[in-house]
Amino acid sequence: MKKLDIQIVSGDNFIRRVIVDLKSSNLGKKYAIITDSNVKKLYAEKLQKDLKKADIESVIISFPYGEKNKNFQTVEKILDQLFKEEFHRDDAIIALGGGVTGDIAGFTASIYMRGLPYIQIPTTLLAMVDSSIGGKTGIDSKWGKNLIGTFYQPKKVYINPKFLETLPKKQIRNGIAEIIKCGAIARPAILKILNKNKDKIFAFNQKVLSKIINLCVKIKSNFVLADEKENGIRKYLNYGHTIGHAVEKLSKFSVQHGEAVSIGMAMINTIAVSKKIMSKKDSDFIKSLLKLYELPTHLPRTISSIKLIGALSLDKKTENSKRQFVVITKPGKAKISTLITNSDITKACKKHA
Ligand code: ADP
Ligand code: ZN
Repeated sequence: MKKLDIQIVSGDNFIRRVIVDLKSSNLGKKYAIITDSNVKKLYAEKLQKDLKKADIESVIISFPYGEKNKNFQTVEKILDQLFKEEFHRDDAIIALGGGVTGDIAGFTASIYMRGLPYIQIPTTLLAMVDSSIGGKTGIDSKWGKNLIGTFYQPKKVYINPKFLETLPKKQIRNGIAEIIKCGAIARPAILKILNKNKDKIFAFNQKVLSKIINLCVKIKSNFVLADEKENGIRKYLNYGHTIGHAVEKLSKFSVQHGEAVSIGMAMINTIAVSKKIMSKKDSDFIKSLLKLYELPTHLPRTISSIKLIGALSLDKKTENSKRQFVVITKPGKAKISTLITNSDITKACKKHA
């Protein structure tokens, strides 16, 4: 796979850069801006106007916001509109929004006429540091989250931290969980920046945000380039996610992704400490960061150890019936462990009840 084209441009230069880049790369004769109902009002209409001023033709195709709409019906409606607007293979799609939009727009791009080029413009912190990079697309179904989808790389990812200024704090925290994950598995410097700059981050300081987004994007793209289909080191990005996904599912998604990953990271660290894989000091440091950003480290009351173990056995990442967990040996170093037993999980559940 060739290098990913990811550009981080903060502030007013952003749209100028996007336009110059679109004009020179000639990705599409016209563009479909796929977005959700919130982001449409906040940013899509403005983007369309800016493109129009530069003689770039686009249409907006929006869907109602929320994970519950990340399904086949939404994709079908978007496909219908692409046909009605006579989109062809020399046209392109722009995914403007959070992770839900990126997943839906990427999936649609990958199947419409066997594939149109697409561009990611993420507007949530989670999407900027995680879901817009890597080319995983997908939708949810009665069989589970993200089980239907494709690996389909965006041609470009344009990131502007200014979009975060309208994002609710809860969503910022969700993104912070993934950023802590990146620091823990590959780059301890990120953890130090987070430790020192909470106020600046919540005040949307563009310099600090650009810095941490840039570091996370590099880590994620390196892992993806080395292992596009997730057979090897890309798995490290699942740190905190095995337990996290189970928590999300058991809470019927009332616990948000970042929060669930936070609980997952805290719990797997506790297990790693008990198995002498990780020092208590390192585990405490990561926990203190999670707490600093008001992320949960304890299980919701409704989730018992029996339920959690049950859900873990059904996780899609179970391979050859051996459960794989990503553990941290020290900040910046991850490895896969297959030696974590149900009894280890039960003990950790007690500590995190
Ligand atoms: P995520 O990126 O967390 O996976 P979503 O795509 O569902 O999830 O985005 C979370 C919510 O934030 C949605 O309701 C979406 O419409 C809204 N949203 C996305 N970007 C922004 C933004 N920049 N400002 C305000 N709200 C936003
Ligand atoms: Zn995640």
